[in-house]
Amino acid sequence: MNTDFLIIGGGMVGLSIANQLLERNISKNIVVIDKEKSLGMHSSGLNSGVLHSGVYYKPGTLKSQVCVSGSKKLKSWIKERNLPINECGKIIIPQMESLDNQLDILKDRAIKNGAKVELIDEKELKSLEPYVKSSSGRALWSPNTVVVKSKVVLNKLESELREKGVKFFLHQKNWRVDPIKCTFSLDNGNKINYGHLINCSGLYADRVARKFNVGEKYRLFPFKGIYWALRNNSAIKITRNVYPVPDLNVPFLGVHFTPSADNIPTIYIGPTATPALGRENYKGFEAFEPLSTFSNLLSLAGQYLKNNGGFRKYVHEQLLLALKPVMLNSAKKLIPSIKDSDIVACEKVGIRSQLFNLEEERLEDDFLCLEGPSSTHVMNAISPAFTASFSLADLIIDQMISKI
Ligand SMILES: Cc1cc2nc3c(=O)[nH]c(=O)nc-3n(C[C@H](O)[C@H](O)[C@H](O)COP(=O)(O)OP(=O)(O)OC[C@H]3O[C@@H](n4cnc5c(N)ncnc54)[C@H](O)[C@@H]3O)c2cc1C
Repeated sequence: MNTDFLIIGGGMVGLSIANQLLERNISKNIVVIDKEKSLGMHSSGLNSGVLHSGVYYKPGTLKSQVCVSGSKKLKSWIKERNLPINECGKIIIPQMESLDNQLDILKDRAIKNGAKVELIDEKELKSLEPYVKSSSGRALWSPNTVVVKSKVVLNKLESELREKGVKFFLHQKNWRVDPIKCTFSLDNGNKINYGHLINCSGLYADRVARKFNVGEKYRLFPFKGIYWALRNNSAIKITRNVYPVPDLNVPFLGVHFTPSADNIPTIYIGPTATPALGRENYKGFEAFEPLSTFSNLLSLAGQYLKNNGGFRKYVHEQLLLALKPVMLNSAKKLIPSIKDSDIVACEKVGIRSQLFNLEEERLEDDFLCLEGPSSTHVMNAISPAFTASFSLADLIIDQMISKI
């Protein structure tokens, strides 16, 4: 079998690339490979489903370039198909008075990125969300933030791509690749000759890239996102996304309240950013890394934490957020009247694949896409890669075809 483009990884990034290759009439001969029996088993199916409006990202970064346009494109795509969407907006709150000036930084970034935001006072905040309190009295209102059902979106995109002739080979656990001959062997031994291969394998992108001698100086670090939920019959009523002012030195947004896109929304609280000690360690200890990889990860983490006191403190706080009283304390900074009985544990959990630069000893904060022999490697598809997926795919395709 011959194909123009072979995509490893059927998450939102891989499928969006397939979609944009078709939309832009670049090729109709596309193959998607995934190791799972069905799609949506990892980040793209397990995330918060928030389509970010482009507030946070430093102007000039790739994130800032694709978030606003990607969010608009995905939102219209979802609406055209009548898929669930909760157009509830988002409020960003300083949880301590000393964080108030961060609202001005965020407003400035948002405007430069083309996102619509507005600073609001205590009275306006009260009319939007009566239970939420800002320590300084001010908040940032982002009306264009929406919430969708990420797995529903992914599965719809998959079914449309199948109808348009994209071929899917799922449950491929032991595939092999010859990067020089451009041949890919499926688990059953059948061979696919490809023109160009695109690695969109999320949590395993660094390992797949190393098969092509690409990205040696990077390792993916798994961070688990644990969620809690607001009890159904709680007296606290929340109808919008409520986020704290994030620590702009780390690539995570802080524990927030997110209403789902269901008819009767569940209000999720989370996710944490807890070091996961295993790329698929969703439940506890069921999918630990092999001992050697695990100790490598630990020593990497140790090295980074030793040299970066601020991040060490952050990781420590995140570890403690798995404990209900600590989570409650954090939630109280946004909603002072929330009580222990308002918060219930929930099964929702996801794992972020955060890239660590070994040479420079730092977490990569932006999307990163590397070129290899007849191949492109999407290395750091962190948030907002789901939101931005259609525009991110265009950016990746432009970079790729300029090199082919
Ligand atoms: C808890 C959490 C909350 C988040 N919230 C948001 C949010 O609200 N908004 C937002 O925009 N983003 C959010 N994100 C980030 C977003 O989910 C990701 O950026 C995005 O889904 C990445 O998509 P992907 O296709 O790169 O990866 P994935 O969805 O992980 O897809 C990768 C695919 O590759 C497959 N694969 C892996 N290895 C192999 C292999 N060796 N062979 C074959 N297949 C392989 C996997 O099975 C998987 O299907 C969140 C992430 C998490 C974890």
